Amino acid sequence: MEKIHSLIGSDFDALVDDLSALLKIRSVLDESHMTDEHPFGPGVTAALEKFLAIASRLGFRTKNIDNMAGYAEAGEGPLFGVLAHLDVVPEGKAGMWKFPPFGAVVSDGKLYGRGTNDDKGPAMSALYALKALRDSGTALNRRFRVIVGLDEESGFRCIERYKKTEEIPEEGFSPDANFPVVNGEKGSLSFALSKRISASGIKSIKSLPEVIAINGGTRLNVVPDEARILFRGASAGHLEKVFLPDASVRNEGAGVQVVVNGAAAHAMEPWKGDNAIYKFLARLDELDFGPPALHAELFKLRGLFNGETDGKSLGVACRDDISGPLSCNLAVISFDGENLAVKCDIRYPVKADGKFVLDGIARAADSIGWTPEVLKSKTPLYVAPDSNLVRTLLDAYEAVTGERGEPFSIGGGTYCRAMPNSVSFGGVFPGEEENAHQANEYIALDSLRRMTHIYAEALARFNRNAGQQ
Ligand SMILES: [Zn+2]
Repeated sequence: MEKIHSLIGSDFDALVDDLSALLKIRSVLDESHMTDEHPFGPGVTAALEKFLAIASRLGFRTKNIDNMAGYAEAGEGPLFGVLAHLDVVPEGKAGMWKFPPFGAVVSDGKLYGRGTNDDKGPAMSALYALKALRDSGTALNRRFRVIVGLDEESGFRCIERYKKTEEIPEEGFSPDANFPVVNGEKGSLSFALSKRISASGIKSIKSLPEVIAINGGTRLNVVPDEARILFRGASAGHLEKVFLPDASVRNEGAGVQVVVNGAAAHAMEPWKGDNAIYKFLARLDELDFGPPALHAELFKLRGLFNGETDGKSLGVACRDDISGPLSCNLAVISFDGENLAVKCDIRYPVKADGKFVLDGIARAADSIGWTPEVLKSKTPLYVAPDSNLVRTLLDAYEAVTGERGEPFSIGGGTYCRAMPNSVSFGGVFPGEEENAHQANEYIALDSLRRMTHIYAEALARFNRNAGQQ
């Protein structure tokens, strides 16, 4: 092991140089330049070519899989996978960055740039960890493959492509989340409910204001921070009385627009946000409006969710000791004058049964005369903490950091979902600031170094494991 760790020390400058070259390529999905040759756009292809060129210069076997994924490999024997990705999210507003987002600038011990943390830094770290293991003279009893996908940020098409023709690793890890080990991911289920609203009855109640349109929330995985309701025939003064201070009210054309404000949060932790749709629904009692069917259906809908983030009124609330409670995010609402529709995102505990959740939702919707449509569903992911995979990773982490750490579960969304028998292992350390997808994304050089020692330690242990069998 000593040899391995000293090689990482002497290779560290080269690691940073190679990573910097990779960071300078703007590998953002480019839908306007997608071709057969560049399925995710030319920037993404360029990053793969750079990675494969580095890997082959370092002496690895490499393969480019249709510019959608690729890998670097060393050793002989059963396949062990490290699953990383080279695509990045856009830099966002350039004015927010201290240094150019694709400049790979080092300042104050930190390397800045889009992808430093997510996920080019950890990808390159894993590659150099494998190099150190190989160069130490240790016989490799396994084939270690660093697989890089090119579409992790927008849909996993890369890894689906990989699975079609390439060998699936027996087990592995993904350096694309947190240390020490993320061994569980909640199941997820998103669904839509919609209802045609009859306009009849409105003429008979002349004095009633009418709702023309409702629009709240945009994405399933975000707690809605805004809901807009457009009224006709309503007085702004009355609406202010009902909605202030949680909304702004202003005359707009022939109507009055109410914008209810909430606070966004990730759908895996909806309790951290303030749902603007819930805040609108909470005002229904103080507010009568037409069409009468709309008011009535909104009332029923409110009864299903009841302002809750745990799905209690939906009849699906549950929790387990591993991953905590089910979460429920009423994410989107819309009414266009004819159709009232909502979308909801549920994350259920790893030990819960997806069918229980689905049946519960169908039953609840049926009780108000609505029918749910499932939009997306993913079963939970869980690798037992006493499995060889998790124990070996924790051992490696402990050997380098001196701390044992506990594996933990999260609400969902990690890359290791794409591969069987894999868990997330790094690269963000406990207590470190989460800066992926944000302006001024960086990786501390000390963390990059420590992460490389940990990855090498882990690969060496899996190599020994295989040698003993
Ligand atoms: Zn990532």
